[in-house]
Parts: sequence; C-alpha cells; structure tokens
Amino acid sequence: MTNDHPSSSAQQPATTAITAGRSANGTSLATPLWASSTWMSTGLVDARRRATGRRSTEFYSRYANPTVRAFEEAIAALEGAEDAAAYASGMGAITTTILALCSSGSHIVAQHQLYAGTLAFLQGPCRRFGIDVTYVDGTKPGAFAAAVQPGRTMLVLAETPSNPLLELIDLDELGAIKGPFTVVDSTFATPLGQQPIKHGVDLVIHSATKGIDGHNDATLGVIAGERDRLYEIWGYGVLHGATPSPADALNALRGIRTLAVRTAHQSKSAMQISTALATHAAVRAAHYPGLTTHPQYELGQRQMRNGGTVLAFDVAGGLEHATSVLDRVRLVRVATSLGGPETLMCHPATSTHSSLTAEELAAAGITPGLLRVSVGLEDPNDLIADLNQALERVTTSA
Ligand SMILES: *Cc1c(COP(=O)(O)O)cnc(C)c1O
Repeated sequence: MTNDHPSSSAQQPATTAITAGRSANGTSLATPLWASSTWMSTGLVDARRRATGRRSTEFYSRYANPTVRAFEEAIAALEGAEDAAAYASGMGAITTTILALCSSGSHIVAQHQLYAGTLAFLQGPCRRFGIDVTYVDGTKPGAFAAAVQPGRTMLVLAETPSNPLLELIDLDELGAIKGPFTVVDSTFATPLGQQPIKHGVDLVIHSATKGIDGHNDATLGVIAGERDRLYEIWGYGVLHGATPSPADALNALRGIRTLAVRTAHQSKSAMQISTALATHAAVRAAHYPGLTTHPQYELGQRQMRNGGTVLAFDVAGGLEHATSVLDRVRLVRVATSLGGPETLMCHPATSTHSSLTAEELAAAGITPGLLRVSVGLEDPNDLIADLNQALERVTTSA
C-alpha cells in the first residue's frame, strides 16, 4: 500500500483522517468515483500484468477498484495497520475473514457478547462446515487464552465495546495471545476511538456502515492488519464476491474526513445523556464506558480515546415501559444501526437480538426493558429533554 503522507504515523488520528486515502485523487481534493467494472489493456503482456498483479486496481472491480483502494488506505492509516481490505458489508468482512482463514475441523474461540449476525454465522454456517466454536465470557480475565487449543484454534474473535451492553475486552490481553489469529470487531469504537493493532491484535474489523460512513448512506465493511494476511484474505474474497460498491466506499471516505469531530461531539453528548439517565427515577441502570459506574471504567480509560457514541439503559418496568418510551420519543428516532447524524433508539431484545432465545437473552443480560441509543449530532440538551418527556410518562404511569 502506498502511504501518501510521509508523517502519518507520527501525527494525530484527526489529522490522518484528513490526509489519508488520496492515491486515486491526482490533483483533485475530492476523491473521484471510479464506477468502472473493468479496465483496458494495451496487449497480452499488459493484460497479464493486470490479471496477476497483487491487488492490482486497474483490472476488474471484483479484484480491486481505485476508489475502494483509497478508502482502504485511509482505514489502514487510521488503524496503524500495514493494509486494509473493504467488503460489501460488515458481515461481508466478518464472513470472508472466517472462511478465508478456517477450514473444516478448525476451532474458533469467540465471546458470547457478539453482534447477532456474527453469532448466527458461527452457530449456523460454521457448524455446517465443521468449524467448531467455543464461547467465553470476554470480560473475564484470561478467558480467551484459556479456551485456545494449541495447533487447532485458528481464530480468537472479540468485539469491543460489545453490543448492546457496551462491555469491554482487554485489548492488551487479547494481543498477547500467540498462535491463533486475534480478531477484533471494533465497530462501536471506530478507528478514532481505539486502535487494537497497537495492542498486538492481528486483525481489526469494522462495519463501516456505522460510524465510519456516519451518514446512513453506505453498506460497507473493512478489515485492517498485516499486508500478507490481508493478501491471503483478499485471495479468498475475490472468489467469495462480497465486493464493495465504489459509491459506498466514496461515501465512507467522505465520512472519514469528519470522523474525528463527529465522534468527539457524539461521545461528549453520550456522556452527558448517560449521566442524566443514570440518576433518573424511571431508569434502573445506564450502561456507558465513560461512566465511572461502568464495571470496566478503568479499562476503558486505558484503551479508548473516548467512551464511544452508543449507550444503553434499562427502563424500570420492563417491556411495557420500554415500549412506551419508544412510542413517545419525538426527536429520537426508532431505528437500528448506529453512528449516524440522527439519534437512534432500539429495543435489542425484539430487534437486533431477536434471533436469540429467551435463555440466550437472559444469559447476555439483555433485559426486556433495555434500550440502546446511538447518539447523533443534535444538541445533547434537546436529546435529554426528549428522553425526559418520554420517561416522565413512565414515571407517572409506574
Ligand atoms: C452492524 C454491525 C455488524 C454488521 O455490519 P453490516 O454492515 O450490517 O453487515 C457487525 N458488527 C457490529 C458490531 C455491528 O454493529
């Protein structure tokens, strides 16, 4: 990968978000959209060079595309990684990684607290292909390492902060595991919130659909890590075909330019909102890594640049009252996804985690009254006022 800015490793991430990923630009400040699916060759020798080149960007778009490559360069620079590879969605990135690196008989160690789609993939297709998974409580010190079977475990799969309870995984501990490839889904943090590779982790995955794109107008995933490992995953990915759209990569690259200011505003607001919710009479508990009451507050301070843009809270009165809050919010919108300009709220038990059984929900701590909030770019005082009016009715009807 060409790193187009010489001092990108020394500079602050907010600056790298502006300087990185410009190799397709020429002298244009805005990255051009290369919509082409194929490129012309001057003859056989040239055609052969394009077809066999290592991630050659001017051959055929399922292999590589200059606009997508610019997005990948920006992510690699922000993660402090050698390289990156983009996919059609976060799930495209996760499933391509798993299927590129595992075979029938392989073993994966994964945490219980995973994105529901990842969990469904491990429990369904992976089982069908004879890939064995051991689940651990990722918040327990040493749990991942203890479950590793030397010579058999291919991947250790973690997600931090986790969805929807914002539980944290110790990145130093994960990075210290040798043998299997360590993988972190860092979607909730964004590359501005934490850099797992600096802690020794092998691969970082993002659903760029979320905070990286940041405007709810792209479906995209990305993996960052060592160049050789990415080349191996890319080789499989070309066959798997979860190829990203260059238009989505362009939207996400544009999103990266404002990622630092967006996440700074959103995490500051999330802190303010979760602080207000934590003492509200109608709220049983507020979950946010920036709160000193978060069980892993110290760990968050150590490995995250901020508390993140997502919080969750448990409404007293369970499902009935959670339903009434969802029905009564006006400024806050009822929708899944996260990281966009609009503040979104969802009820994990019946939406993002509806594929879980009642026992699995209880084991994951996803209570009937739990609501997840992705904090947007509105003024936090307006958001607090909206949540207060929705909760007031809970208080009076309780
Ligand atoms: C949304 C999400 C995914 C899946 O990403 P898609 O772009 O929807 O495929 C994976 N992991 C986490 C943590 C997510 O929030």
